[in-house]
Amino acid sequence: MSWFLDVVLPIPLERRFTYQINQEEAKFIKRGMRIAVPFGKSKIYTALAYSVHNRAPEAYEAKSIYQILDEVPLVNEIQFRHWQWIAEYYMCTLGEVIRSALPSAFLLESETLILPNKDSDIDDMALKDDEFLIYEALQHQSLLKISEVAEIVDKKNVLPLVNRLVQKEVVLLKEELYEQYKPKQVKFVRLAPDFEQEEQLEVLLATLSRAPQQSKVLLALFQLTAKTKKPIPLKELVKESGVSRAVIKSLVKKLILEEYELRQDRVSFDGEATNLEVVLNEYQRNALESIDSSFEEGKVALLHGVTSSGKTEVYFKCIEKVIEEGRQVLYLLPEIALTSQLIGRLRDYFGDKIAVYHSKYSIHERVEAWQNVLNNLEKAQIVIGARSALFLPFSDLGLVVVDEEHENSFKQFDPAPRYHARDASVVLASLHSAKCILGSATPSVESMDNVKKGKYGYAHIQYRYGQVLMPDVKLVDLKDAVKRKRMKGHFSETLFLAIEEALNQGEQIILFQNRRGFAPIVECTTCGHVAQCPNCDVSLTYHQNRNQLRCHYCGYHMALQNACQACGSSTLDKKGFGTEQIEQELKTLFPEAHVGRMDLDTTRGKYAYEKLITSFEQQELDVLVGTQMVVKGLDFRNVSLVGVMNADSLLNFPDYRAHERTFQMLTQVAGRAGRTQKQGKVLIQTYNPYHQILQQVTTNDYDKMFEQQYYEREQFKYPPVVRIIKITLKDKDFNKLNEASLWFAQSLTNVLKCSVLGPEYPPVSRIRRDYLKNILVKVPKSQSISQTKNSIKGIEKSFNAISKYKSVRLVYNVDHI
Ligand code: ADP
Ligand code: ZN
Ligand code: ZN
Repeated sequence: MSWFLDVVLPIPLERRFTYQINQEEAKFIKRGMRIAVPFGKSKIYTALAYSVHNRAPEAYEAKSIYQILDEVPLVNEIQFRHWQWIAEYYMCTLGEVIRSALPSAFLLESETLILPNKDSDIDDMALKDDEFLIYEALQHQSLLKISEVAEIVDKKNVLPLVNRLVQKEVVLLKEELYEQYKPKQVKFVRLAPDFEQEEQLEVLLATLSRAPQQSKVLLALFQLTAKTKKPIPLKELVKESGVSRAVIKSLVKKLILEEYELRQDRVSFDGEATNLEVVLNEYQRNALESIDSSFEEGKVALLHGVTSSGKTEVYFKCIEKVIEEGRQVLYLLPEIALTSQLIGRLRDYFGDKIAVYHSKYSIHERVEAWQNVLNNLEKAQIVIGARSALFLPFSDLGLVVVDEEHENSFKQFDPAPRYHARDASVVLASLHSAKCILGSATPSVESMDNVKKGKYGYAHIQYRYGQVLMPDVKLVDLKDAVKRKRMKGHFSETLFLAIEEALNQGEQIILFQNRRGFAPIVECTTCGHVAQCPNCDVSLTYHQNRNQLRCHYCGYHMALQNACQACGSSTLDKKGFGTEQIEQELKTLFPEAHVGRMDLDTTRGKYAYEKLITSFEQQELDVLVGTQMVVKGLDFRNVSLVGVMNADSLLNFPDYRAHERTFQMLTQVAGRAGRTQKQGKVLIQTYNPYHQILQQVTTNDYDKMFEQQYYEREQFKYPPVVRIIKITLKDKDFNKLNEASLWFAQSLTNVLKCSVLGPEYPPVSRIRRDYLKNILVKVPKSQSISQTKNSIKGIEKSFNAISKYKSVRLVYNVDHI
């Protein structure tokens, strides 16, 4: 009988591929093992085994596999089911999910020469054109041979280019075909077994009495062993005894000591739990009770606790229970909130049961964490990580915690799968019959809607821990300050004086300036007016190439005016101001103060972020200026003042979520102020002090914010009232793209019963020679989302059959945010 194996390749193709195997292989192979297979003319891929059967493929002759790479499955059944859900829900292929889910070291391919360096933050604007081409190619393919690099850039000698890419940390080089993962070995020292008996030991010490250096080594070894009762690393023995390695070597030669090696995980925490007794206060206890009763009803629990209310401690109690049952815990955080502060707190409490998994860790560290979770080891019983940690091979997950659940960085934007880690976590928890807590001081409108609809349970903490007062939030009217000439650069007199006072008191200050957004808005510096779309609840975006203001949801556009439509003055400003400018101004206004800046540019290296936080924590810095990075989960004791330079740039972001996000961001940033007995102060500069969202921030009125935002989502039909699928079409040919996207939108309109918006240009309508167009599908909650997706896939099939549209690429983004 012939045997065949279906595998899933880590590529964006829907189908599985069939290979020939022999009977032994058929017996040995289990779903989830990695198999090296030939593909195409000369490629070798690492694929995942899917199923073994006897049916020869009809369309092609099955090739033989090259190699079975695992002894046991690397991916378990629950992962397969979860990944299949992700592929279906987010409209991508299982292969794409696999590519994202597995550490790249698990997916090496033949003749690997260059790989993308996923560990480094790459500013693609800083790349030269040919560098960018390779960088981009590596977004779609996990590696390139040198010959392929040469093809892409159409040059013979590409070694200098590859060298530059390595230097810029864009790519990694791989020499080997299958680089086996090598755990780090550590040298240890112990007494030779001959001397373990006491009599022999005495004789030995007597003979060494005239060799003081060697005696020292032995004494140090005894002391260390007595103290730690653990294997003694060579390094430590050298340190403790104060002698050179040569002395120890000579003892090894004399067969008195033995050297041996053990593998040590790179990410190992040797600290024991200090088991700080955490006693919850009344509010925390009540919250824990509500959480428990949600669990009893089989519901996800939303923990809504104001900043510094002690949500973390409530999570700890929940984690503790699950750990005692011997089950695993996943603790997800947005990337930027993953600080050593929190990891330290967890380690103090749970000792070395904590494993950390996120993108700043090396490939090797991630491989190790994967293996530890796969083997269900105690040292990885609690995994704390950013969104990709939800792909780990948990076999017995008991609890998932998603902290800062409102954070939009949980949504992966590029490449596929464009999944939302919070939502995918809820599904993961249900596959494991695990409990699930979503926590936030400012829950997303989605999650709160689920509470209101009875889908999620709810727990609320309204007070800060330890009778610390909520900060006093005040709005500063910039319009008025400008009019009365009370501005020093971007600082109102009010903010200036508050900074001066805090500095005099020896207190610290955080200044928040959110400079984001690729396409700027046009703002009037006299009245702060920003043009709005009449059809949608968003600001219009400035498009430089056509000198137009456009709505990128519905396509409304108008020519850029020379004067402000609200006040008529010609003080229209296209450029926002950034953190760097604020830092400069501070240095002139307060030459004595030590100022630090935290944004993408200053936190590129692996430890740069930690360094900044530590020096602020240790009060080497007086002022920290930053983007949204300063907002996240940090706990600084001495910050008495938080200043927001310009709230309007947040409010005016062209996005239906802008108001919700503004509330969340400002509430979070305000939460950094006054975490001790003295009430913190927050000053928010704005041209619109009467804006409802800003009013809601000052009164900390989440409920009103929710109510109003929900009402608007109903009015304008945005999530969570409907679901959104964004379809982006890309092509180098402008006319072809227009035609193709019209065809697609028209077909959608004909087939779907829901509303189809666009095609419309995104604010940046051409990226590196590709033109882009977006189509937005709004699916009412009453309509089946999976049927809608099937219909869209059907249209895609017909679309792909039209030969002139062959070059047009399609990107789906489900629940686009
Ligand atoms: P949140 O995550 O809600 O912003 P945290 O968990 O960071 O709040 O708590 C704020 C501060 O209060 C932290 O310094 C924390 O150690 C302290 N804290 C909270 N709950 C307790 C508790 N039950 N016992 C001791 N300290 C607590
Ligand atoms: Zn104006
Ligand atoms: Zn519009």
